[in-house]
Amino acid sequence: MRNLPPPVLSCNEVLISCISNIRDQTLYTNVNSNLFSYELAEKSYDKKGKTSKLHTIQSHRDVNGQISKNQMMFLYDKMVKKENPARDYYDELLASSRRCPFCGYGKSTTLDHFLPKSSFPIYAVTPLNLVPCCKDCNTTKLTKTTDENLLFLHPYFDNADDSRWLYCDIGIFPETIAFRFKVVKPSIWDNEKFERMQYHFKTFNLNDLFMSFATEEFSDNLHQLKTLYASYIENGASVSNAELAIKDDLNGKFISCQKHLINHWKTAMYDSLRNSNAFLKWIENYEY
Ligand SMILES: [Zn+2]
Repeated sequence: MRNLPPPVLSCNEVLISCISNIRDQTLYTNVNSNLFSYELAEKSYDKKGKTSKLHTIQSHRDVNGQISKNQMMFLYDKMVKKENPARDYYDELLASSRRCPFCGYGKSTTLDHFLPKSSFPIYAVTPLNLVPCCKDCNTTKLTKTTDENLLFLHPYFDNADDSRWLYCDIGIFPETIAFRFKVVKPSIWDNEKFERMQYHFKTFNLNDLFMSFATEEFSDNLHQLKTLYASYIENGASVSNAELAIKDDLNGKFISCQKHLINHWKTAMYDSLRNSNAFLKWIENYEY
């Protein structure tokens, strides 16, 4: 989960562009006469997002009984289709994060309606409700109910990096090291935020994703660690000094990763390796 700065675009700016080339004059007039309602709804979204109260927004069927859900979907299509002027806003939102903030790794190729447009049509084109993300995460969110969707962390509002929550357990096997990532509750988080992070982590299968990256990273570094250990022993150093050299190396990698991203899988991985005496013994005995 990566945080993103909220877009500075307003809902009305996007809406005016969406209706700029429509033929339906009634819809055009109705949207124009409801701009104040869209603006109020956007302000409410911003306020509730900042106080983790998006779940208190009521689902609804239309906008003031004048603009239907289908008409809001039609207006959103005006953002999606490339030939329309509103597509510029779609592209602008998409370009705000090349990487998907939900998983942190996929390429952003689509916009997710954080509050689904089917249940919250007034927010169908509201930039604060549109999050750039990868297809996999978008598909996962689409399979969830409205209540379940509200459990995901919102990249514009929920600060996931105010504390460290990602940790890693390692399993030592004769031929390899296995990694398992987990969410640990930071002391400054309340239970609700912790449970939402657990849901987010589990539902987007982040452990599987991080495990595959960690296994590759470890294989990339194994030769260097083994060589470092062997060079100390060959130069007459004691086993404990050779172990210390490995620990220092892992510690340096941990600190560098932590400075970059406190909840990066590499931070968690190097933290677990640097603290494992069993891993040091494994390196000593591993036949490369
Ligand atoms: Zn993703």
